[in-house]
Amino acid sequence: MKSAIIERLTRYVTINTQSDPYSETTPSTLQQWDLLRLLEEELKAMGLETDMDEYGYLFATLPSNIDKDVPTIGFLAHVDTSPDFNAANVKPQVIEQYDGGVIQLGDSGREIDPAVFPDMQKVKGHTLMTTDGTSLLGADDKAGIVEIMEAMHYFTTHPDVPHGRIRVAFTPDEEIGRGPHRFDVERFDADFAYTMDGSQLGELQYESFNAAEAVVTFEGVNVHPGSAKHKMVNALNLATYFNQLLPAEEVPEHTEGYEGFYHLMHLEGNVEKATAQYIIRDHDRELFEKRKQQMIHIQREINARYHYQPINIVIKDQYHNMVEKILPHPHIIDLAKAVFADLEITPNTEPIRGGTDGSQLSYMGLPTPNIFTGCDNFHGPYEYASIDVMTLATQVIIGIAQKATETELEQ
Ligand SMILES: [Zn+2]
Repeated sequence: MKSAIIERLTRYVTINTQSDPYSETTPSTLQQWDLLRLLEEELKAMGLETDMDEYGYLFATLPSNIDKDVPTIGFLAHVDTSPDFNAANVKPQVIEQYDGGVIQLGDSGREIDPAVFPDMQKVKGHTLMTTDGTSLLGADDKAGIVEIMEAMHYFTTHPDVPHGRIRVAFTPDEEIGRGPHRFDVERFDADFAYTMDGSQLGELQYESFNAAEAVVTFEGVNVHPGSAKHKMVNALNLATYFNQLLPAEEVPEHTEGYEGFYHLMHLEGNVEKATAQYIIRDHDRELFEKRKQQMIHIQREINARYHYQPINIVIKDQYHNMVEKILPHPHIIDLAKAVFADLEITPNTEPIRGGTDGSQLSYMGLPTPNIFTGCDNFHGPYEYASIDVMTLATQVIIGIAQKATETELEQ
């Protein structure tokens, strides 16, 4: 299986599928169609039935080969890669039997140094794929695609191995936060699903942040500084004052685990007008709502001191913690954990300090935890994939489909 995975991953990562946050279309870039169409062909060649819509949501079905009534399980991965770093001309390099030392990335002068990336010790002895240092690898999430494709290949070439109805989805624009936007849960028609979009071996994620974005605008009054007393309102000073009233320790650089934060991402302006862009994150829904209230409270307090309303806030929820939608169906997690146990993989269910497509899909009616893919150092030149861990992730997909036929599962 390892050489098939290397061959397939090489084929997919060399197709540039970078998404574009400034595009209004879905998919955001035409180049994502290149991989979607290739996958559609390959799924058909394996004998799966495919259905792709005008937005680039490619679905496929592996029909059940048993008489028993078992749930339909979905497996999802995204075709796009991050807009944060060059994604053109990806030149993968394969390292056999990684010795745990420094990896030179081609002639780029860049290297993966275990002193900087201590987690490299966990993949010592593995076969790795990296870039030549000039681009990202895009194993996020092409590793997930490879694992799903290899699992489907396994089932179509081992018709004696029992499985229920399997649905596959390859989707665009995850990296720009629009993965589930046009995902038709009804058309997908699965009882539950897993995104193959995690990182290190053992990750099984079903707790994400609650997430919102806040855009705060500050309206100033510009007067000549020489005669400004009691007249000028400096929008920049208002903005920095507003920010100071937020709890100084509750920022990404001082938080971890279940601790939430306010993150000032962008600040610009002049005396007349300033704009501050924040993201708000918390695993706990109540604390999340309180954070939003806190910002509004500060806004009102400051505004009350002026004869006009200098501060305006627009807060938009982005996604919610999927745990609320997954815990009522514990068998989805138990099934994955049972397969992990068979493969002697220790599950790591630490909460994600972020979101996945599953965070939104779970609220759209498709409970969708996230499983490891075996790649790490995403979105930049130091990205790598462990072919050994990818092999295990493929076995997890096969195992989940197979195990679901053994036990009576509530739907
Ligand atoms: Zn991803």
